[in-house]
Amino acid sequence: MNQPYPSAIAAEAAAAPAKWAWLLGSIAAQRSGVKRLLWSGVAYLAGAAFWVLAARSGLMPMDHAWLLAIYFVSSQVCFYALLRSGYAIAHQDPTLAYPQVLFGVTAVVLTYCLADFARGAALQMLCVLLVFDMQRLDARRIRNVSVCAVVLLAGALAAMHGLEMDGLNLKQELINIVMAAVMLPMLSLIAREVGGIRLRQVAQKAELSDLVAQLHQLSTHDALTGLYNRRCMTDLLQEELKRYRRSGQPFCVAILDIDWFKSINDQYGHAVGDTVLKVFASTARRSARGSDALARWGGEEFLLLMPGVDIDGGLQAMARMRDRMLMVDWSAHAGGLRVGFSAGVAECAAGETMDSLLERADHALYAAKEGGRDRAEAAPALPHRASA
Ligand code: GH3
Ligand code: MG
Ligand code: MG
Repeated sequence: MNQPYPSAIAAEAAAAPAKWAWLLGSIAAQRSGVKRLLWSGVAYLAGAAFWVLAARSGLMPMDHAWLLAIYFVSSQVCFYALLRSGYAIAHQDPTLAYPQVLFGVTAVVLTYCLADFARGAALQMLCVLLVFDMQRLDARRIRNVSVCAVVLLAGALAAMHGLEMDGLNLKQELINIVMAAVMLPMLSLIAREVGGIRLRQVAQKAELSDLVAQLHQLSTHDALTGLYNRRCMTDLLQEELKRYRRSGQPFCVAILDIDWFKSINDQYGHAVGDTVLKVFASTARRSARGSDALARWGGEEFLLLMPGVDIDGGLQAMARMRDRMLMVDWSAHAGGLRVGFSAGVAECAAGETMDSLLERADHALYAAKEGGRDRAEAAPALPHRASA
């Protein structure tokens, strides 16, 4: 049973709601898709404005310019609606990369047909589009996009030739398209290489952060019970002590020790002993408050840190835990098995060090053992208790 490390909980609780959620959405994958779309949307918008200005300057017919502008802008609005509404995420394509690249190809081909003064530029735009977006696609899709671009361009050229469009230099355009057919696969290969490097980097980063999380878990938790380990609890105690010195708010510690645990090992075997430790730990964790921290302090000893709790509250917590342990069906793990524990509880006093507090709790535990076990004893209050 794992306990979340307090600093991780604090970080999660402190996490502010995502910025610009109304525009970008709140899911990470959706946000990155929308952000990228907004960048390309700016480029398409600039393209639309350019065609209208070009038409005003007499470089192309105005109806061609408006057709291109409407095609560019309406497509971006549609993509935004699909991404922002969550449709894309629900259909497992959170960034709509493939449809967007395919749309880009049709936009370039339409430009190629309608803006005759910019045919060369349209083919260059195709190259830029492929380099910009291809890193997001796998090898099969990259190939599909390249083939689709060349086929559409060739089809467009054939159609324009068939319609006997004014000013069409067939020879020149054929050379352009053959060049595109040679260049696109090469560009695709380069883009795929770069995409592969990027994917490997992303995977390595994810592996590294997994490893860091695992190391953090290993260095702060006990492997058998999943509770905090002694080192982590020592840090938590120091933090609590600092808080106590600042605020004067009481806190308690309890050292719990399973009674006659050696006999359990001897009588039922080490494996049953381990099971007892695990069940004891999870039962104790469930019995404690969410604000308490429980650690495996040593072999069959546990330390419970109870912030904001005074000695009476600490003793009540032990009584509650005892009742909880009595409800466990220990005989399910080994016939006739019974498990009890003794505890020493101490409330931190003004000016006290961690060592002194633990020593007092340990003495109280010793008194509980001496008193017949299966009980909790309170450490006597120090003469100068905190007056919070
Ligand atoms: P008392 O009531 O006085 O606490 O007696 P006890 O038998 O519980 O205490 P003692 O200190 O004599 O024995 C503790 C035993 O816990 C000895 C040790 O072998 C055993 N132990 C420590 N760590 C583990 C563990 O990880 N697994 C198992 N199965 N046993 C452990
Ligand atoms: Mg012990
Ligand atoms: Mg013991």
